[in-house]
Amino acid sequence: MKKASVAIIGSGPAGYTAAVYNARAKLEPVLFAGQKSGGQLMWTTDVENYPGFKEGVPGPELMMAMRQQAKRFGTELNDQYVTAVDFSERPFKLWTQLPAGMTGQDFEEKSAAELEPIKKELRQSEPDLIAEAVIVATGAVARKLGIPGEDKFFGRGVSVCAVCDAAFYQDKITFVVGGGDSAMEDALALTKYAQEVHLVHRRDEFRASKIMQERVLAHDKVKVWWQSEVKAVLGENKVEALKIEQKNESQKTEIKEVVADVLFLAIGHKPGSAVVADQLQVDGHGYIVTGQNPNQAPTMTSVEGVFAAGDVVDRRYMQAITAAGQGCAAAIDAERWLGAQRDTKEM
Ligand code: NAP
Repeated sequence: MKKASVAIIGSGPAGYTAAVYNARAKLEPVLFAGQKSGGQLMWTTDVENYPGFKEGVPGPELMMAMRQQAKRFGTELNDQYVTAVDFSERPFKLWTQLPAGMTGQDFEEKSAAELEPIKKELRQSEPDLIAEAVIVATGAVARKLGIPGEDKFFGRGVSVCAVCDAAFYQDKITFVVGGGDSAMEDALALTKYAQEVHLVHRRDEFRASKIMQERVLAHDKVKVWWQSEVKAVLGENKVEALKIEQKNESQKTEIKEVVADVLFLAIGHKPGSAVVADQLQVDGHGYIVTGQNPNQAPTMTSVEGVFAAGDVVDRRYMQAITAAGQGCAAAIDAERWLGAQRDTKEM
């Protein structure tokens, strides 16, 4: 069984930034990257809004650089999933075995409830690592529609971040699906570049805030498809069209094939909190709650000594740069907390 002062779970911008800071502070962090190291940016082509890259940078290249930077200062990198944790007492316990026959992909898709028996069994065995502090930076994944063509074009015509990718669609025919604030924000971001912006929503009213709805509805470039669902993304080598099912005024369903260059999914995110959700306070959507105790650091979770950062905490900004900033904050908070623990012991 290995021992570490800090264990970091997750390998997106938050996890790797936390690792860089804790490694430079000589804490020798151990980072669990999962089998698909790099997080959501691995699915992105060019990142143009990460400061420091004036020509932009491919998402995978940015993540590889962060990984190497974390390693350079002495982070121990493990391409394993953390499959169970026990935060009930310190030092914290972490397990990394996958049940026989289960792939990493299967594991990632399991809900907190489905993971329960797996965690219970693992906790009977000796942990793989014990750590004095833990930083959870397991990110979030954009929800998908689960329609034909979505995976084929994911990252190259099916996108999950118009704030990041809108500028690539100058004079193009763009579609957004969703009815929340993200969909409104995406549609408005696209109006600055695209020739046409179509907003497809399954109901006859939006759930977005009134002010965002008003902006969208007042914009003459945005065409709203009410009571409509995207049923397929069509194309040979690139997105060429969408199949949309629309209910007309007499509630009869019509299927239309419409020319499109890109589909933006804005139907919400799923935080990657399933492994820790039974140990930490999470909100109604599964996001980890931090900063509840005014006497503790802002990135501390409901368990003292466990910190969280990035998209697993953040429903609002969801940007690589904000995740990296939160990873930095969590690393500094963890370092200071560990220092205070040692000072108390020595007194
Ligand atoms: P959200 O509020 O959960 O909205 C998701 C939207 O997607 C809903 O309209 C939902 O439809 C639709 N949807 C879900 N599953 C779908 C499916 N399978 N097929 C078709 N449509 C589907 O998510 P969000 O817009 O990402 O916002 C998340 C949070 O971040 C919210 O609290 C929001 O206020 C906040 N946010 C704030 C800002 C801002 O302040 N500028 C910007 C972005 C996000 P139904 O309405 O029919 O359920």
